[in-house]
Amino acid sequence: MRGRLPDPRLTPWAIRRLTDRPLRGLSFSTNSGYRRLDLLRGFAEMVLKDKFGREIHDLRISVTDRCNFSCIYCKSADPKNYFPHRDLLSWEEFLRLSRILAGLGIRKVRVTGGEPLLRSGVVDFIARLRRIDGFEDVAITTNGYLLPEMAGELVAAGSPRVTVSLDSLDPAKFTRMTRTPRSLEKVMAGIDAALEAGLKPVKVNIVLVRGFNDDEIVDFARLARKRDIVLRFIEFMPLDADHSWKRELVVTAREIVAAITPVFPLIEIPRHSPSETALRYRFADGQGEIGIIAPVSIPFCGQCSRIRLTADGKLRTCLFSMEEHDVRHLVRNGAMDSDIGQFFFNAVHQKESGHRINEPDFVQPDRTMVYIGG
Ligand code: SAM
Repeated sequence: MRGRLPDPRLTPWAIRRLTDRPLRGLSFSTNSGYRRLDLLRGFAEMVLKDKFGREIHDLRISVTDRCNFSCIYCKSADPKNYFPHRDLLSWEEFLRLSRILAGLGIRKVRVTGGEPLLRSGVVDFIARLRRIDGFEDVAITTNGYLLPEMAGELVAAGSPRVTVSLDSLDPAKFTRMTRTPRSLEKVMAGIDAALEAGLKPVKVNIVLVRGFNDDEIVDFARLARKRDIVLRFIEFMPLDADHSWKRELVVTAREIVAAITPVFPLIEIPRHSPSETALRYRFADGQGEIGIIAPVSIPFCGQCSRIRLTADGKLRTCLFSMEEHDVRHLVRNGAMDSDIGQFFFNAVHQKESGHRINEPDFVQPDRTMVYIGG
């Protein structure tokens, strides 16, 4: 059955009639307790696939909408619309959905937010995610502020891969970008703590915004050569709460390469996998590498293998989705795992062909990055 998508209108009962394969690895909760049923014969042998044939293997889980930074390209300086705590999925709810998705072919999981390290219990959650059968790679994206205190705990939780956002190497500019005073020192200490604790490789994300930090491209390249980090420049996307995105503010992949090459010649290298978001380059003298994530100037939607689960339990099939799929309602109203699996199949089937940023009638979604999870 691998790779064949059932008709999304089929109920699990109908799917059961289609196959007599033994079920692997899915648990189903029922009113009478938590037990294994073979409602979904065949599901476990299948992968989530959309109507364009893209297989979905990557999941981003936003565990909170709270963040201690207010980056200019992401969160409002004065957010008024945090979700009430009761609306956020509990760790048990996240784990249940994660297990179902592992059974449907998700292999890579990234824990994000908001700022994920702010939510109490996140380290234990990561440890439990790592134990889910099928998850081959568990990572976390953080602003790094709490890493000095938490890097050791993350090692104890099984050393997830860590990505830290770092948008300037200059304290004043960093404050201007994060709208959080005296934050650079803490983030740099966080990167050091992660490396010292053995959380390797540490990745560093830099969102470039013209007029703010594009004069630091070469300084960042120098950092990538000096430190044991994997650096990723990211093009600014129209997902900011202030709605200040303009095409002129986007520093494109081409410009980034053009800025670095005269100082440190670059050689493009193959991506690790076709669905990898970053274009990869190594320095011609062999010392380190950089990546560029260019969703605006070089969209990679055709290879997209990602879905996102928001902190309030909505499934998003694209960063720029105008429609979301409410899983929390199912989870909190007695749905069986088989129903939820069916729901995921149906939602993924409808995944958008692409983000449409470059279309003349593009409309920025209401939900901004801090509420989606990058
Ligand atoms: N708080 C964590 C952090 O700072 O990394 C995780 C959440 S943050 C939303 C995840 C990633 O999204 C970060 O690397 C951030 O730089 C990126 N991001 C946020 N808004 C963006 C935008 N408008 N365009 C491009 N990347 C963005």
